[in-house]
Amino acid sequence: MLTKIASVFDVEWAGAKLKIGHVVLFVAAVCISLIAISIWGVFSSLEYHLHEKKIEMSNLSKTLSSSISATLTQADTVILGVKERLEAEGTGAENLKKLGDILKIQQKRLPHIHGFFIYDEQGRWLFNSNGIIPAGANNSDRDYFIYHRDHADPATFIGPSILSRSTNEWIITVSKRINHPDGSFAGVTIATLYLNYFLSLYDDVDLGNNGIINLVSSTGRIVVRKPFRDADVGTDISSGQAFSLLTPAVNSGTATIKSFVDGVERIISFRRIDGYPLVIITAFDRSEILADWRNESLASLLVSSILLVILSLLGYRLIKLMSRQMQAQKELQISQAIYIEANKTLGALALKDGLTGLFNRRQFDFFISAEVSRTRRKLDDTALIMIDVDYFKKYNDHYGHVQGDECLRVVSAIIKKHVTRTDDLAARYGGEEFAIVLPGTDYVGAFPIAEKIRIELEQRAIKHNESPIGVVTISVGIGALSASTTGTTENLVDIADKALYIAKSSGRNRTVISN
Ligand code: GH3
Ligand code: MG
Ligand code: MG
Repeated sequence: MLTKIASVFDVEWAGAKLKIGHVVLFVAAVCISLIAISIWGVFSSLEYHLHEKKIEMSNLSKTLSSSISATLTQADTVILGVKERLEAEGTGAENLKKLGDILKIQQKRLPHIHGFFIYDEQGRWLFNSNGIIPAGANNSDRDYFIYHRDHADPATFIGPSILSRSTNEWIITVSKRINHPDGSFAGVTIATLYLNYFLSLYDDVDLGNNGIINLVSSTGRIVVRKPFRDADVGTDISSGQAFSLLTPAVNSGTATIKSFVDGVERIISFRRIDGYPLVIITAFDRSEILADWRNESLASLLVSSILLVILSLLGYRLIKLMSRQMQAQKELQISQAIYIEANKTLGALALKDGLTGLFNRRQFDFFISAEVSRTRRKLDDTALIMIDVDYFKKYNDHYGHVQGDECLRVVSAIIKKHVTRTDDLAARYGGEEFAIVLPGTDYVGAFPIAEKIRIELEQRAIKHNESPIGVVTISVGIGALSASTTGTTENLVDIADKALYIAKSSGRNRTVISN
């Protein structure tokens, strides 16, 4: 019985387990989503950081480019005036004196100007706004001088930073060629600008520990670079990665490249300076940007991890609680079912005889009195078959009580076999006596049933040496009430008993109908 109950609950238990399985899946899905969102967040934050930095650096290049352009234009405008005046009025002492006075006034007004100079076609100094001309001074070896001497174009030349021969300071040169009336080379007019002024433009810019601002000539030579190192000035970076991006059609852009100078990977922004053959390049160490991102990502991953742990714990507790509750429910249901089943068994036990499994005397009494009342009410028939084992005392004495019990079980089994209608009732009347109540049946109907039982037992041939017949037999008495012969329960039992008595006294192993 327990197996049956267990199997019923196993089905329910499987359903409950499925529910827990769904909860486990749900918790796992939430956790996996959280992990996926965190990872996605980390990577999109990297994109965002790099993008932001590129925009920031592009803006920086734009600002620097404008201020450098404005500074150069001031110097350029002055030397353009000098060039035109010298070309128109020549380099006579008087003209140079007048021009010199004007230039000295201009220099005072422009704090970033280091000086104004004029050289003749041999490179000899004709004018120095900073004082007297050193004896025998000659600048024909300077880059700008060589450039103007060899190029007839009127464009302004911006040279790499140089150490001033007059003041020994780092300067940037802005120069123009002077022509003789016939167009031949007449010398150079030049404005020099303090390199420190350019570096001071960069002072307020936060470049991190490894950032760079580089002002480069369009031919790829470093004019001034922050952080400043003497050795970098004039370095040719035209074969570097940054320069390869600067095709004639491209004026500005951003990229991630490895520095030509120090090998550090940087995010760079480059921009041509309007009107001058110069390019400003700003660069920020990529690993420094990533350090910010790493710190941010670590913090966000930490928060996500804590969330994940809390979620997992809650999920685990929920699942635990659910399975405990289901286990308790299962146990409760099983106990309940066992209890109900036990109750049923107890009820059945109260109605049935323990040895034979037939109904007991109490149930017989209850059933027959109900049946007799029904017969009276409905004017119907009821037959009663009374059975008594022959010489059973002797059987017991001879074969022992245990075998006697076994014999009673055989007799009961044969009775059960032949009492097949659901309305009939077979009971152990007492000791080795049995009774069968057959509702709606008269003598005629009851007789063949009684005979079938008697004959089958006889044919079983259970040995009974103490009986004159030699095998275990029964004597049967049949009584009946009909619509015409109404009577009480006692009447019916009495009639059947009398018939049984006659069966006994007339030789046993027979069926007698009372009339
Ligand atoms: P008769 O042919 O006249 O019926 O003789 P009998 O010996 O069968 O009748 P009697 O009433 O004298 O004996 C009935 C015996 O049945 C007495 C008792 O030992 C035996 N008996 C009654 N109940 C049980 C039982 O539950 N088990 C066993 N083994 N024997 C029982
Ligand atoms: Mg008896
Ligand atoms: Mg007997």
